[in-house]
Amino acid sequence: MQDFQEQLAALEQRGLRRRRRIVEAAHGPEAQIAGQRLLAFCSNDYLGLSQHPELIRAAQAAAAAYGVGSGASALISGHWAAHEQLEQRLAAFVGFPRALHFSTGYMANLALLQTLARRGDAVYCDALNHASLIDGARLTRAEVVEYPHGDAEALAALLAASKARSKFVVTDAVFSMDGDIAPLSRLLALCEAHDAWLIVDDAHGFGVLGAQGRGTLSHLGLAAPRLIYMGTLGKAAGVAGAFVAASEAVVDWLVQQARTYIYTTATPPMVAATVLASIDVIEQGDDLRAHLRQLVTRLRDGLAGLPWRLLPSETAIQPLVVGESRLALDLSTRLRERGIWVPAIRPPTVPMGTARLRISLSAAHEEAHVDRLIETLRDCAQVSL
Ligand SMILES: *Cc1c(COP(=O)(O)O)cnc(C)c1O
Repeated sequence: MQDFQEQLAALEQRGLRRRRRIVEAAHGPEAQIAGQRLLAFCSNDYLGLSQHPELIRAAQAAAAAYGVGSGASALISGHWAAHEQLEQRLAAFVGFPRALHFSTGYMANLALLQTLARRGDAVYCDALNHASLIDGARLTRAEVVEYPHGDAEALAALLAASKARSKFVVTDAVFSMDGDIAPLSRLLALCEAHDAWLIVDDAHGFGVLGAQGRGTLSHLGLAAPRLIYMGTLGKAAGVAGAFVAASEAVVDWLVQQARTYIYTTATPPMVAATVLASIDVIEQGDDLRAHLRQLVTRLRDGLAGLPWRLLPSETAIQPLVVGESRLALDLSTRLRERGIWVPAIRPPTVPMGTARLRISLSAAHEEAHVDRLIETLRDCAQVSL
């Protein structure tokens, strides 16, 4: 017990101890915390769909029709018509032969790396990949090699030197803490040249980028049999879950082998039905995406010239790098005192010395909300100088 207490105290001292805030209610982009309404720039609900009336109605109707639980794992008796319909809808939506639905993106990524890459294979991971991909890489018996963030040249050299049987390049499409987009066209060309698979985690692009929100591959016009696509359904889609889209053979292999698919209770069918309704809204949501893009431009223009470094990003994730954990935490606290909630992201989630405010925008925000954030940050900068 003392050991844990000491470790907790050490975290506290370094400004790294994490605490959860209890959300009591959501009102559009505002969250109620301890009775106080905060204007929030911290969710991944990029299109505001978690509060969408059509999705709420779909969830209620599905609960009434199917009940609230799936009853079993998918291979026993938990694969309902709603799951099957969702998988077909998702595969067609992102342009792949087949899709497999997972309970969470974390589980989908564990499955991808553990199941597809085997002893004698090699896995090449971008240095800033999401923790779930890192953990998936830890589970594989394949050799795991990290390449510098976004560095296609370094990756090319590694692939050229590789003697592995099968090679897998694994990357976030939109990096979750930096907001930048991986050089996917270049990566796919390298994979073509070196006969490697390309696994793309599009947690932050699905629903947001591409024609009708079909994701980052659509945004960049990429398609190939060697692509394996992972999208999540709890971010822009506003509900929960994830999916892998790929060829028939890859998906069927996952059904046979993926432990995080086989040994877990299937997602409630009401959730799958709600996601189905969400895909319709995403498909018809060009106005939401246009509004979101406008907010991104407005924020970036408004924050130009502040003492903190706004990372180059054209996505809804707009990181403001402050540096030391304590400073990032202080800035986040000062914003909260002024009624605005922007989380400080600290190591180990991001590299030491790059603690930041991760500002995330949503189509649920109005221009006036973004203006309020800009003015408040400018005030804070005055006090800091
Ligand atoms: C959120 C996220 C995941 C995990 O998805 P969940 O459905 O939340 O488990 C995986 N990859 C990336 C890049 C993410 O941002």
